[in-house]
Amino acid sequence: MSDRDFDVVVIGAGLGGLEVAYALASEGMSVCVLEKNQQLGGSLQVFSRDKTIFDTGVHYIGGLCPGQNLHRYLSYFGIMDKLKLHRMDMDGYDLCSMGDGHTEYPHAQGYDNFVRQLSEYFPQEKAGIIQYTEEIQRMCRRFPLYNLEDRDTQEWKDDDLGLNAKDHIASMVRHPVLRNVLGGSSGLYAGDGRCSPFYVHALVTNTYIESSWRCVDGGSQIAKHLAHNTRAKGAIIHSRKEVTGFDFEGTSISAVRTSDGDVFNCKHVIANIHPNALLAMIGPGHIRPAYRHRLTALRNTTGTFTVHLAMKPGAFPYLNHNHYHMLGHDVWDAVRYDRVNYPDSYMLSTPKSSKSGDYADAITIMCYMDFDEVAPWANTHNTIVKPGDRGDGYEAFKRKKEEQILNVVERKFPGLRSGVRSIHSNTPLSFRDFIGSHEGSMYGIMKDASDPLRTFIPPRTKIPNLLLTGQNINLHGILGVTVSSIVTAAELVGKSHLLKKVRAAS
Ligand SMILES: Cc1cc2nc3c(=O)[nH]c(=O)nc-3n(C[C@H](O)[C@H](O)[C@H](O)COP(=O)(O)OP(=O)(O)OC[C@H]3O[C@@H](n4cnc5c(N)ncnc54)[C@H](O)[C@@H]3O)c2cc1C
Repeated sequence: MSDRDFDVVVIGAGLGGLEVAYALASEGMSVCVLEKNQQLGGSLQVFSRDKTIFDTGVHYIGGLCPGQNLHRYLSYFGIMDKLKLHRMDMDGYDLCSMGDGHTEYPHAQGYDNFVRQLSEYFPQEKAGIIQYTEEIQRMCRRFPLYNLEDRDTQEWKDDDLGLNAKDHIASMVRHPVLRNVLGGSSGLYAGDGRCSPFYVHALVTNTYIESSWRCVDGGSQIAKHLAHNTRAKGAIIHSRKEVTGFDFEGTSISAVRTSDGDVFNCKHVIANIHPNALLAMIGPGHIRPAYRHRLTALRNTTGTFTVHLAMKPGAFPYLNHNHYHMLGHDVWDAVRYDRVNYPDSYMLSTPKSSKSGDYADAITIMCYMDFDEVAPWANTHNTIVKPGDRGDGYEAFKRKKEEQILNVVERKFPGLRSGVRSIHSNTPLSFRDFIGSHEGSMYGIMKDASDPLRTFIPPRTKIPNLLLTGQNINLHGILGVTVSSIVTAAELVGKSHLLKKVRAAS
């Protein structure tokens, strides 16, 4: 076999691409990963300004205590013992607040603790809070791979997948503030009251209630260790290799082409990129229009405008929790934000660095932003590999948004600005250009409780040797994508076989 012939070519070295490459290389397959950026990791990438490291897409991770699901999976990938992690506040890893109110309602780690902490604020709702935590755990048990179990996903004939998160929570607790508090971290999945399924809420929330952690010095360490281990299994990983198209033999792909004219022959292709970007590379005639339409017609989660602040030493405390703050009345409406009184919700977190001690070197503030706000600059492009200038108008737009956001955040954290050394920000365009996500969508395809199976994307495509992995199938987030990578790899090496290996390693 030459250095241009592989069993599997993986497009994209995001978390899912690296993990599927590791799993298949461990099974003796020859694997090549092609990544368009200089830095591996996709949304795990970090950037540095003013000698300060900023995460782009990971602020905290759950399920990392020994025996918990992500700990077990990351042990299989050989990285668990290498990660530098910091456990977040046991009695409130997330604090949720509303309007100008000063009360901060905690989401605590451990189910008993979660119930205990919230019941102090809503004693009359204790039974409902217990029912809510039981519902989350019941729902999580429905997903075998979430629990590393080798059983078939039960046929979803009942209504579980179709439970709407907002409605289901409202059926368990009455207090309007408590309803908002339980949905307080819905920014983790761009929760929308009209469609977000309860199962997404449950799978995401459960992982943090089990245990919540920050990556010390950034989430890119996950990609770094994973890439190292994947190469150690014999896989080749190329950065600065943008995939642009395919050669076909009959109905199957025979080779992958890159923008610099390289050709990689392969038996299988696994795409760790957004399905829309993948379909754009496949000419008409290879995929039926109905399948193309089915995928491209799906809604995507919204994007984010993120403000990154480099802080003066000793100016702002390191917070061992995240703040979710909303100014509107209903947390499930926050995605349809008010453009005039922007922002009407935000998530604020202080990354943990090995230097930070009692004080934060950095603050990250995330607010929703739809792509149409940056549409005037849609024809520009700017990444490290392909730098470009979006122009003064774009810079002015960013400055205005930064000001609006800091004005709102200072109401809760007075004097924050005086501690700032420098301000940086990114928009949905940054995510679109760096990650290739559709219109800078944060988490890819939006799951929909009103038509759940339509937004449940299987790893197999209509092209026999083309598979999907990553956040658009299964679920997003570090845990969701990790499970997706196992779902995809299992298609080639068998689920029982693979799960035995995963379980043996953990
Ligand atoms: C703002 C934000 C905050 C988040 N916060 C958290 C959090 O706190 N906790 C959590 O668990 N999750 C969080 N997530 C979600 C999590 O980061 C993602 O779900 C996950 O990292 C996605 O991984 P992926 O494998 O799907 O690939 P992606 O990260 O989407 O990577 C895809 C890769 O493919 C590459 N690529 C694209 N096109 C091509 C091409 N043509 N050729 C070659 N390569 C290509 C891209 O460069 C990229 O490296 C956050 C996401 C965002 C955006």
